[in-house]
Amino acid sequence: MLAIDGLTVSYGTEIAVKNVSLTVSGEVVCLCGRNGAGKSTLLKAVAGIADIDSGRILLDGKNVVDIPLHKRLEAGIGYVPEDRKLFNEMTVRENVEVARIGARAAGRKDMDVNEFLPELASFYDRKSKLLSGGQQKMVSIARAIVASPKVVLFDELLEGLAQAMAFKICDVVKRLKAEGKDILCAESSLDKASLYADRVIWLEQGKIVAMGTPAEIKSQMMEHIRKMPVGQDFRQGDEGCRPS
Ligand code: ATP
Repeated sequence: MLAIDGLTVSYGTEIAVKNVSLTVSGEVVCLCGRNGAGKSTLLKAVAGIADIDSGRILLDGKNVVDIPLHKRLEAGIGYVPEDRKLFNEMTVRENVEVARIGARAAGRKDMDVNEFLPELASFYDRKSKLLSGGQQKMVSIARAIVASPKVVLFDELLEGLAQAMAFKICDVVKRLKAEGKDILCAESSLDKASLYADRVIWLEQGKIVAMGTPAEIKSQMMEHIRKMPVGQDFRQGDEGCRPS
């Protein structure tokens, strides 16, 4: 189980995540909210990329906040960043093998990623820079899960993906959950989160303002929109559009 307790993260004087507490236990939880709400920062704090001001991040009861970035994998945290972070000049096979070497060095039991991502086989020997965005996302997922993490973090998992690819990636997430992984994601779009999340946590200005199933959050949002003055911009993720 991943438990975040009273987490605060700031950049200089700007507080990006304010006293957030949440748990993820055998489920897929998705952080939603408009741009700048603090979703990516929260994931980066769990991944060890963003320094935290205060709070605890507990993985199966063990506080990992003092574990440095390069040791978070050893602790069982896998991270799929929004910008994929692949070695562009390397093939898919090489990208995955580098991650596998890292997993073994970290003392993790490496897993057969082809079982989760059989599609990889069709472009295994292609350079990463020549892949489509969706294929690159698959490679990034493979790199994160090869170390058999307990927790997997996905930032903007479905952003920019065509529908068929988005459905395939959702299936991968569901299979990982079935394997017992705790999964914490961030999506700007509630519609995208609805495709794979069990629960949505809505952030606004770094704070949790609503939690529930995607359907519950959507209905709260519709209620909020109904109460808004006519003429206001209702685009999801924009300022003013939030669950009530
Ligand atoms: P988006 O969907 O646009 O990525 P987000 O919800 O993920 O938004 P964050 O990227 O976590 O939000 O940003 C939260 C706040 O922290 C924003 O006000 C942002 O400007 C600020 N911020 C994020 N990264 C940095 C950084 N490296 N340096 C300074 N401020 C930052």
